[in-house]
Amino acid sequence: MKSFLSEFISSLTPYTAGEQPQDRRYVKLNTNENPYPPSPGAEEALRSFDGAKLRLYPSPNADALRDAIARAEGVERENVFCGNGSDEVLALCIPAFFDKEGEGAAFADITYSFYPVFCDFFSVPYRIVPLKEDYTMDLAAFSRLRCKGILLTNPNAPTGIGINRDTMDAFIAENPDKLIIADEAYMGFYGESAVPLVKKYSNLLVVKTFSKYYALAGIRCGYAVGNPELIRGLFAAKDCFNSYPVDALCQAVCAAAVSDADYYAAAAEKVKSERTRLRQELVKLGFFVPESAANFLFAGHPKGGEFIYRGLKERGVLVRFWNTDKLKNFCRITVGTPEEDDALLSALREML
Ligand code: PMP
Repeated sequence: MKSFLSEFISSLTPYTAGEQPQDRRYVKLNTNENPYPPSPGAEEALRSFDGAKLRLYPSPNADALRDAIARAEGVERENVFCGNGSDEVLALCIPAFFDKEGEGAAFADITYSFYPVFCDFFSVPYRIVPLKEDYTMDLAAFSRLRCKGILLTNPNAPTGIGINRDTMDAFIAENPDKLIIADEAYMGFYGESAVPLVKKYSNLLVVKTFSKYYALAGIRCGYAVGNPELIRGLFAAKDCFNSYPVDALCQAVCAAAVSDADYYAAAAEKVKSERTRLRQELVKLGFFVPESAANFLFAGHPKGGEFIYRGLKERGVLVRFWNTDKLKNFCRITVGTPEEDDALLSALREML
């Protein structure tokens, strides 16, 4: 049979999302979702949404949502861009800010594994900077590197290690000719966002998501905060691809969520104290676990990540592991509710 696929698409290796199996009920600690529900305001916005409104296209630029995000982040509407998940926002960053010929992008060897996929999809070259021995980002190596821009996950995934705001400030100042794209998907569990630096630096773009801190992974919304020129670049890229990436229901629910600061801060505090307990228990079980600034733990064990993953899956608990040389001893465990984490710990005690 003749294949109609382009040679280009056949040559790509797409990203593999974390599994969402439906064969039984699992304790799901594999995709870093928030263990607590969306805020009462978000749920009310969903319940009271007027379905008749879906007849019309939504605001193409999600302006009311941009205003709500701008209020929450202490910036202006012109500093905010919204997309269909932060994956889409990050993807649009590649054609918006990088050329096929040119210095290209740079990111760590162990970081969000979607970045090389985005670059390959847009035929943008990239350089890889290894993490240091202690799994932290080698910021000095990034500073020495020639590149047009850097994708920096903070806190990093899957290590969970965070870079504080003062260190980011110095790093951005040291690299005025590079665009720093800070992917802050997990920043709500750390509290050192670079957003306050956006007014100071025109080479900083911060990307955030509603999927983790705001407990809305199912609705698909992410956003970027940066100076108006960068935001205009993202709008231009969006309007070459999809004029209405954020649907009307999503805009209403996310605008309500972002206005419920107290609820989310309290939920994040619960995740953070559970993160401390879970880490201590894993260390007692013989795991190596760096301090995490995110809502997951990077847990290494001499028996290997795959052994841990398989044993846990048989016992109804999902975590994530990787088949690569550098990561083969590790799995990534999302911090759940105390009950979910107890289920994980008792399964591990049985296995080990
Ligand atoms: N950045 C990082 C570091 C992530 O781990 C994820 C979630 N897999 C994303 C971005 C994308 O999140 P979303 O598309 O759900 O906003």
